[in-house]
Amino acid sequence: MKRPLQPFDDALAALLVQAGPVVPAETVDTLAADGRVLAADVRSDLNVPSHDNSQMDGYAVRCADLAGLADTTAGQPVRLRVTQRIPAGHVGQALAAGEAARIFTGARVPDGADAIVMQEEAQVEGDEVVFTACPSAGQWIRRVGEDIRAGHVILPAGTRLTPQACGLAASVGLARLDVRRRVRVACFFTGDELTMPGEPLRDGAIYNSNRFVLVALLRRLGCEVTDLGNIPDSLAATREALRRAARDCDLIVTSGGVSVGEEDHVKPAVEAEGELRLWQIAMKPGKPLAYGRVRRAPEAGGADVSAGMSTDGTTDSSASASTSAPVSASADASNPAAFVHFIGLPGNPVSSLVTFLMLVRPFVLRLQGVDDVAPRAIPMRADFDWPRPDRRREFLRVRVNGEGGLAQFVNQGSAVLTSTVWGDGLVDNPPEHPVRAGDVVHYLPFAALLN
Ligand code: AMP
Ligand code: MG
Repeated sequence: MKRPLQPFDDALAALLVQAGPVVPAETVDTLAADGRVLAADVRSDLNVPSHDNSQMDGYAVRCADLAGLADTTAGQPVRLRVTQRIPAGHVGQALAAGEAARIFTGARVPDGADAIVMQEEAQVEGDEVVFTACPSAGQWIRRVGEDIRAGHVILPAGTRLTPQACGLAASVGLARLDVRRRVRVACFFTGDELTMPGEPLRDGAIYNSNRFVLVALLRRLGCEVTDLGNIPDSLAATREALRRAARDCDLIVTSGGVSVGEEDHVKPAVEAEGELRLWQIAMKPGKPLAYGRVRRAPEAGGADVSAGMSTDGTTDSSASASTSAPVSASADASNPAAFVHFIGLPGNPVSSLVTFLMLVRPFVLRLQGVDDVAPRAIPMRADFDWPRPDRRREFLRVRVNGEGGLAQFVNQGSAVLTSTVWGDGLVDNPPEHPVRAGDVVHYLPFAALLN
């Protein structure tokens, strides 16, 4: 009996329901926080700027002193005495009527001054400065708190820190930040045919390319990776690998062996070591995907990991919300050490890459407490025809061409890794949706998916 395929969005939602609660928090130097996920809101104790300051090299003045210049027909320049000099980092005296202060970019505006006249618009004569135009109140002054107000949240919990965000935290004086600890991922690669580069290739064997793709992807996501390498196609070896992998990680990721042929041992192995759901997802490439849980150790807390998931392979996520579910947020919080997540990716290289990007990546981000995990598609013009779409949602390998449209790689086969190197992204094409050249399609650049 053929099961209906599971819509991609349902599979993703069902997967994300399992991705909680998030990994614990730790404190790191702001200088080393790039790529980490904030565990708590970051507030500023400071106003930024901390005081009104000058945006120009020039003169701090009182507008009232130059009010006469507002009448442009009068033509009489105004002279003010320069009574002080205020470089950045120094604090001047209050400015009295009839005085100007020489001031430099970033320097605090002295009390009494209400505008800066840039030096190009003033003329120095001895210890006086001559003005010919009337400044507008507040000109060239950066106001206190204009960028950041004291007490406000500047970076909410769940933010994945970028270099800019680290800079923002530093700009309010924060030397350390509370972030989620890195997600620990153990991975292995199933297949008797797998050979490592550097070794001779015997007849019928292939080099293990998925290992290089998946380990690098996980590292780019900020994971701590334990790589168990190639595992032969046997139930015993697969079970043993699962047990080793489950010792000290949050998530196990594997490639291969998730079809239902007799050489596919991942399903029975995970079932023996925990619990598994095998999904046939309506996506191409990448139809088969396994999600499950593997017991960390039989004695670890005694939780029965087989109680929590619906077993019918549907997208019903209510199981994790029920009281019997050991991985619902509350049950899990009481015994987080009892199991690790398991995701089994298909073996075909493009399938494993695409399922990683579209399903594992959001899952890992969610484990780190990131809320918004959906990649943002960019509407782009297709400069290709795709007249016979699949009944599954397709992720086509494309690249931006010189005309501002998208070209498609000729061979969209799920084993053709070349397509993913030639391409600079994917078109996310709905099921049964033909594309004609000129149509607008949803483009997902690798640049957004690979970090
Ligand atoms: P499987 O999912 O195990 O049925 O594998 C599907 C296809 O992907 C087969 O042609 C495998 O030889 C190939 N394959 C499996 N694992 C890898 C890997 N790690 N690197 C490259 N190709 C693989
Ligand atoms: Mg295999």
